[in-house]
Amino acid sequence: MKKSVKILIIVLAVILVAGIIGLVVHSKVNTDPTKWTVEGDDQIPEMSFEEAVESLDLMENTWQTAIPQTEIYNIIKDHFNSELPEGKTVKKAIVIGYDGCRADNFRLLANSKHSAINELIADGGHAVFSYCGGVNYPEKNIQDTSTAPGWCSMLIGQWANEIGVTSNGQPKEIEPRTLLLELVEDKVIDSSAFYVSWPGHFSKKNSTYVNEKTYIEQNGINSKFLCAGNDAGTTENVLEDLNSADCSDFIFLTLEYTDHNGHSTGFSLQNPKYVNGFRNADGTGADFIEAIKARPDYDKEDWLILITTDHGGINASHGGPSMDERITFIVSNKEIAQ
Ligand SMILES: [Zn+2]
Repeated sequence: MKKSVKILIIVLAVILVAGIIGLVVHSKVNTDPTKWTVEGDDQIPEMSFEEAVESLDLMENTWQTAIPQTEIYNIIKDHFNSELPEGKTVKKAIVIGYDGCRADNFRLLANSKHSAINELIADGGHAVFSYCGGVNYPEKNIQDTSTAPGWCSMLIGQWANEIGVTSNGQPKEIEPRTLLLELVEDKVIDSSAFYVSWPGHFSKKNSTYVNEKTYIEQNGINSKFLCAGNDAGTTENVLEDLNSADCSDFIFLTLEYTDHNGHSTGFSLQNPKYVNGFRNADGTGADFIEAIKARPDYDKEDWLILITTDHGGINASHGGPSMDERITFIVSNKEIAQ
């Protein structure tokens, strides 16, 4: 065989192999979850965030009268400090957090088959707009619409930047304490639990609550801080707690489905991956509510159930001043003082 023919054969073989590898890789990318999992989700018309939140009939206030997300702290404290209703023997509370869940995801509720939000509303619950970022839109925000400041504002009841949590990766001092520590240490309740899969909460050297976690462990305080590998792990941890006879009095958990998918492919209702993130979060929330209602002592327990988010998102990120990032929500099985 001529040398030039040999070279030609080798070149062709290389092109063929590269083509096959390319096809395999490409088909892998294409099998990414871009399919709509719930019928009708592909028919949601595109509209601005403002138009979308103004179209939501279930909300009891407007985005202009949204309440600060710091109110979560007061709602939970008031619940535990109020008298037990007749026939009840113990108070319990759970905060089901959907990280990075835009408020306009509520447009999807009409198509939901298995939804914690729908379940609470159908049972006489309430939904209001809230806001993150320190002040309501359109005034310029004083706090990043980021994860650590958002959840920290709810757990402490003050804007987190005022206590030194201006962004992710800034450990808070032990004081002021989160509700998880405060309620147990002050003997308002017997136990609390914090279930997450994002290591930025308390699993790294520079995580937000790393000092508080150490303090809790060193002082034998009955509060569990558990970080799972992913949302499935968080779900398992929460269900194990809810299915145990002496479940934690106060449970605070965050699911990453919406935030994770928003960052990878965009925070938008026109994006099936983001929509499916909401489906996964709200369906998992419904599983938690089912587990609560199935508790043998449910009739004797006075539960406060809250669903909320730390911030919204725009394009493929959050942290900034847009309305899409700042207007959040609180859904509760009990009335929300405004
Ligand atoms: Zn977040």
